[in-house]
Amino acid sequence: MSVQVVAAKMAEVELKDVPSKELATVSPVTPKAEEQAVIKNEPNTAVTSSVSPTSESTPKGDPCPLTASPNPVKMPQASAMKRTDPQQNGGESFVNRDGTVAEAPRMKKIQFADQKQEFNKRPTKIGRRSLSRSISQSSTDSYSSAASYTDSSDDETSPRDKQQKNSKGSGDFCIKNIKQADFGRREIEIAEQEMPALMALRKRAQGEKPLAGAKVVGCTHITAQTAVLMETLAALGAQCRWAACNIYSTQNEVAAALAEGGFSVFAWKGESEDDFWWCIDRCVNVEGWQPNMILDDGGDLTHWIYKKYPNMFKKIKGIVEESVTGVHRLYQLSKAGKLCVPAMNVNDSVTKQKFDNLYCCRESILDGLKRTTDVMFGGKQVVVCGYGEVGKGCCAALKAMGSIVYVTEIDPICALQACMDGFRLVKLNEVIRQVDIVITCTGNKNVVVREYLDRMKNGCIVCNMGHSNTEIDVASLRTPELTWERVRSQVDHVIWPDGKRIVLLAEGRLLNLSCSTVPTFVLSITATTQALALIELYNAPEGRYKQDVYLLPKKMDEYVASLHLPTFDAHLTELTDEQAKYLGLNKNGPFKPNYYR
Ligand code: NAD
Repeated sequence: MSVQVVAAKMAEVELKDVPSKELATVSPVTPKAEEQAVIKNEPNTAVTSSVSPTSESTPKGDPCPLTASPNPVKMPQASAMKRTDPQQNGGESFVNRDGTVAEAPRMKKIQFADQKQEFNKRPTKIGRRSLSRSISQSSTDSYSSAASYTDSSDDETSPRDKQQKNSKGSGDFCIKNIKQADFGRREIEIAEQEMPALMALRKRAQGEKPLAGAKVVGCTHITAQTAVLMETLAALGAQCRWAACNIYSTQNEVAAALAEGGFSVFAWKGESEDDFWWCIDRCVNVEGWQPNMILDDGGDLTHWIYKKYPNMFKKIKGIVEESVTGVHRLYQLSKAGKLCVPAMNVNDSVTKQKFDNLYCCRESILDGLKRTTDVMFGGKQVVVCGYGEVGKGCCAALKAMGSIVYVTEIDPICALQACMDGFRLVKLNEVIRQVDIVITCTGNKNVVVREYLDRMKNGCIVCNMGHSNTEIDVASLRTPELTWERVRSQVDHVIWPDGKRIVLLAEGRLLNLSCSTVPTFVLSITATTQALALIELYNAPEGRYKQDVYLLPKKMDEYVASLHLPTFDAHLTELTDEQAKYLGLNKNGPFKPNYYR
């Protein structure tokens, strides 16, 4: 189902004014007696943040569905974490351009500390292989920050073989090392500074507890930013059980802080595939507790419940899904008539998309290039393929650094935009011999093919910012006459027989996801969108959402943005009654139609 159709569906259910009004009047869902008993015993409901943001003004015309806080958010300080590349590998045999299979080219590889960690080779108990993970995507298309500052590979004991308890005596978690909790708490506190909207939500919803009675089972990257989200959900009244959506991205110290705070977390960095499913199972297969909301990233958790515990869907009120992959799976289920609860596609929320594509790439392209190559940007000739949101972000950043930027485009509108923005629009073959850096961000395939790679000058850096690793024809470089030299983690020199070498980054996979950081502020947008989607689905009156996939109502998307405005001391203009009438708008939004991107 296309986004347009979903948007149309949203319009059908007449959500124009509903969400905020509904939420404004939503009475906290009172848990049934037996649930209350469980809630009382559930340690994570007691979690509170140790950082208290100080006062800041609320934006004018705030459509906040929750009680306005007298103490909104403090101006944050920047912080960022490194991400890992979950797909790091080195292929050994290759398909030639003519389709034949060739021996691996001469490949010299320097082994780096991060490559040596072979978590999956930790001894595992016999019988653990019973859970298959063949369908897992282990989400790699959503962002995570994955620096684990206290990580130690010395302790090879599987967390599954350890008996750990937090300081309150609870052992309902499985993580690497509970002793790292203090370090994790510091990471969470740093992240809180850059996640103003969640902190504001906590304050605003303190009295109302719009998620009281919600039992959220989550499967996302377990990082400091997710911890801020989980603790916000708890502050809004939810109980949470959580597993990781990626076997590499868990910050162990953060998982420890969450476990110490009473959350039932089942995750550690370097899980085996079997561990991955075991952790998910421990989240859902628990006596006396059944989830009624799902927060998923990649669709594995949803899939697991469908496969193993389909009856659980009788009590589940909705699914919130973040990733491209997970959303795709939901649309497939919906198309097949198998989706039995409403689902919210937060991946395609306008605010999230803008931040992920334009602003995040504007910041992370330089970071990714600098970390891998130490290149100086001033005066360098760069060609950016594709002038969509990602391309615009990359071009803006490079231009600001003094690079000479060329753009290639197929779409005359984007091409004209590139011209208006002061970039030279060229065909790739016109500049390929002279450029120092080639960046693809088209979402297309075979944009940089072997012919171009052959013609690049010595030392040319080649990388991709688009979703898949098909934009650069990396396979065409796997031929016997070329030598590959791994010079750094994520950096290969591909050397031609005459000695010319090109610098290939992340083997053509997403540069920023593989080699740089994602600003916490970007993740704040996503996390706030997830929290609001949970509130919306959990509190929606019967019949508002059917068994289908929905976009977050525009008004709530606008609300996510408005919650981030105080960070910049931004002052939003309020429509006058006359202006609102003239434009045919409600003074409190939504200010744009659902189809507006
Ligand atoms: P977009 O559709 O807005 O832009 C892509 C542009 O590439 C379009 O203008 C299109 O006309 C152009 N194009 C297509 N084929 C081309 C070709 N052969 N030569 C030159 N131009 C061509 O998409 P977007 O939002 O900019 O995203 C681009 C890609 O980046 C997608 O694959 C997306 O999934 C991915 N993405 C990456 C990140 C990241 O963090 N790196 C973030 C968001 C999206």
